[in-house]
Amino acid sequence: MDTVKQSSFNKGKKMSYYSTPKEPLMKNQVEFLEANMGENSFYKSLYDQWTKNRGLSKKQIACIVRGMTKAGLIQPIYSLKQGDNITISASMARKKAEELKLDAFFRNLEVVKVEGETAKAIQVVVKFKSDIATSCHICGRGLDCDISRATGIGPVCANKLGFVRPTLKDAPKMLEAIDNYAERVGEIGPIWLPKYSLRS
Ligand SMILES: [Zn+2]
Repeated sequence: MDTVKQSSFNKGKKMSYYSTPKEPLMKNQVEFLEANMGENSFYKSLYDQWTKNRGLSKKQIACIVRGMTKAGLIQPIYSLKQGDNITISASMARKKAEELKLDAFFRNLEVVKVEGETAKAIQVVVKFKSDIATSCHICGRGLDCDISRATGIGPVCANKLGFVRPTLKDAPKMLEAIDNYAERVGEIGPIWLPKYSLRS
């Protein structure tokens, strides 16, 4: 269905082909078009353009790659993989908490699975990383005590900004509560994360 829509969409936009830069196709991409153009008018049109111009736009090539991935001919290549640790922006974490109706959405996440990716976003299943901050959110210095790790802010910065730090006695309880919360929420997703919100 998608390809039919794409094909008629492209018809009206023929002029734009001349303004977008062309890139060469790989041998297996040409073979994929040849194998499928008989039944798929969109692939046929791509093949014709390729024959004529010896190049297609990035978007067109991405369509071929998607088709090949769907057909199981190639493994999708994602910019993240299982086990990767990522940090998202504070505003995105707040937005996700709201969207998913969670009390809190951690900024530090572990990638459990990658399900999709576009130029601008990645679709992932994630887990909260409960060993939250290893460096101060404000100055970036390493944090080595439990209170600092639990709050994500070192004593110097906390003092400067007038934050009241919990006592050392409370710190283990705070970390435990954070751990418990992460465990209770478990795996989240698949969710889309815009790439602009990724900090690492
Ligand atoms: Zn600091």
